[in-house]
Amino acid sequence: MNLVKEISYCCPICEKEHKVKVSEEKTKALIKNKSIEYKEIYYLCSETNEEFYPEKIMDENLTRARDAYRRLNGLLTSVEIKEIRDYYGLNQRELSNIFGWGDITVQRYESKKIQKETYDEVLRRAKEDPLFVYNELKKHKDKFTNDKFKELEFFLKNEIKKKQTILCNIEALKALYIDYDEPSEFNGNKQLSFSNIDQMLRFFSQSNNNLYKVKLMKLLWYSDVLHFKENNKSISGLVYTHMPLGALPLGYDILFQAFSNVVSIQVESLNYSDDEDIIGYRIINLEKVDLNKLKPSEIAIMNKVDTFFKEMGSKKISDYMHEETAYKNTNLGDLISFKLAARLKDLK
Ligand SMILES: [Zn+2]
Repeated sequence: MNLVKEISYCCPICEKEHKVKVSEEKTKALIKNKSIEYKEIYYLCSETNEEFYPEKIMDENLTRARDAYRRLNGLLTSVEIKEIRDYYGLNQRELSNIFGWGDITVQRYESKKIQKETYDEVLRRAKEDPLFVYNELKKHKDKFTNDKFKELEFFLKNEIKKKQTILCNIEALKALYIDYDEPSEFNGNKQLSFSNIDQMLRFFSQSNNNLYKVKLMKLLWYSDVLHFKENNKSISGLVYTHMPLGALPLGYDILFQAFSNVVSIQVESLNYSDDEDIIGYRIINLEKVDLNKLKPSEIAIMNKVDTFFKEMGSKKISDYMHEETAYKNTNLGDLISFKLAARLKDLK
C-alpha cells in the first residue's frame, strides 16, 4: 500500500472524527471481460486499522478502473473527453448535439459509461480537426440557438485558419530541412525536433518579458551549441547560418508561423539612435513550458544560457556573439558548423 495523505475524517467505524489514512493500492478488476489493473483509493481507520470506502471514493475508483480500461484499449479517458469540450468551450449537451447524439451521451462518457469505438473515433477527430467539427455543427444547426451557433461558428472558423497556417508552415519547414535529415555537423547531430523547438520557444519567451526576435535566435543558438559541446548533440536540430546580426536558423520566418500557437510577434518601432528608426519584433509568450518534455541536460543548458544573457538586449548579445570563433570563422550566408562549438567562450 501507498500512503497518499492523512486527513481528519468522521470515521464510520468508530463513529467519531479522528485521523484517517488515505491510501492507494494496485488492484485488479474485470471490465467487459478484460482484466485491468488500476490504483484503488481507500481510507484506513488508524484506530481499528480497518479500511472503508466513502461514496465519493467508490465513484473515483470506478472512474479510475474505467480509465485504465480505456487506456489499455486506446480509448480517450474521461479527462481527455472533457479537455476536448473545454477547448471548444462547450458543455456536455452541446458537444453531444454537434454530432447529432442524444443530449446525455457525452455526460455518460465523462462519468460512467465507456464509449463505443465509433464514438471514440468521432471525439478523437474532433480533437484534431476543427474543420470536421465545423461541418458537423452545420449539419446539426437546428439543435443550437442562433446566438450559440454564431459564437461557435466564429470560433471554429478562426481555429480552422490558425490550424491551416500552422500545418502549412510545419510542412514547409520539413521540406526545407530535408537536406539535413541525417545527423551532421550542421544540425548538431540531431534531426529537427518540433517538440523541442516548441518547448524552447515557450521557455525563453516565458522567462523574458522583454524579448525580441534577434535575441531569441541567439538564445536558441547558444543553447544548441552548448548542449552539443557537452553532449555531442544539439537540442533543436536547427541549422544555423551566418547573418549580419549573428546566427540565424534556416527558415526562421517559417519557424515563427509554424509555432504561432506558442509565441506571437508584435512589431514595434525602436529608437536605437537619433537618426534611425529600427523595427523591433517583440516575442509574446502564449503557452507555458512543459519541462517534462525536455531532458534534464537540455533544461540545465537552457537555464544557464537564459541566466547568462538575462540583462543583455538584442544588440549586446549580437555583439557578444560576433566575438565567437564559430562566427568569425564563417562568412556571410555560410552554415555554421557545430564543430566550431568546441571553441565557444565559457559563459561566465
Ligand atoms: Zn476509526
